[in-house]
Amino acid sequence: MPKYGHVERQYGHGMTDLIGFGSAERVRNSTNFYKAKDNLMIIDAHVHLAAVNKDRTFAQSRSLLLADLQQHGIDAAIVIPDNIPGSAIGDLPTCVDLLADTPNLFLMGTIDIQTQGRDWIAYLKHLILRRTIVAIKIFPGHDPITPTDPRLDPVYRLCQTHAIPIVIHTGANPGDPHAARYNDPKYILTVAEAFPDLNIVIAHLFWPKIDYCYELTRACPRIYYDLSALADPEVIAVTGRDRLLSLLTRIATDPPNRLIFGSDAAMCSREAHLRLVDELEVGEEAREGILGGNAIELYRI
Ligand SMILES: [Zn+2]
Repeated sequence: MPKYGHVERQYGHGMTDLIGFGSAERVRNSTNFYKAKDNLMIIDAHVHLAAVNKDRTFAQSRSLLLADLQQHGIDAAIVIPDNIPGSAIGDLPTCVDLLADTPNLFLMGTIDIQTQGRDWIAYLKHLILRRTIVAIKIFPGHDPITPTDPRLDPVYRLCQTHAIPIVIHTGANPGDPHAARYNDPKYILTVAEAFPDLNIVIAHLFWPKIDYCYELTRACPRIYYDLSALADPEVIAVTGRDRLLSLLTRIATDPPNRLIFGSDAAMCSREAHLRLVDELEVGEEAREGILGGNAIELYRI
């Protein structure tokens, strides 16, 4: 993953109203080219907009994403803005405006607790109440904070009260091997214990220490795992393909509702992540859960 991590940091990792934001049912019914496959929906639950530059606007980045989803037979996606204002991959207010009329693109809220305090949390609440955002993501490791930072407590409380998941970035960052010290799953376990109704999504499985991450957290049924970035060649090189496949296969059935498909495109390859799910030796029901059903239930979309 030549770019992942660097780019997220570099571009940093942002409603009109929520008229445009809908439910999985609405996506199904509104589709002309997104095809419902006997009610099976494929959802990429971890995507970012391609960075804007002098040749690409945000609207073009959105079009690019929609075209790529269509090309891969994916019905809907959850877009994660950056938590840095003015980011080239879109900050939250930018994405709120951009995605308002795109019913198959859902949105996460994001926060940098070092710079965004009470007012921002009130803004997130406003977005939750209008169903404009389906989760909130934090970036320990990109930001020099741990998930147990007490300033995050109001964010966890907000998620817990409104039954939306908190998504937590984990793992190493290329170029910054020490980043993972901020997002060790031991901190996540502490959060899970402190907030007994909070659903938590561990993004990237704390790679390369994926087995450690799962062993430590698997007993908590409110902890979910998204497999975004894990098909990236750089991640596979240090994590090991066999080890990855065998752990993901295990998570997929233990119990079968906690593994969620996400690609981390445009930082990573959507196709490589679809192939990774294809390679898992699991039954069709488990695969359908990974590809869409689990996300629909967890994010209530
Ligand atoms: Zn990401």
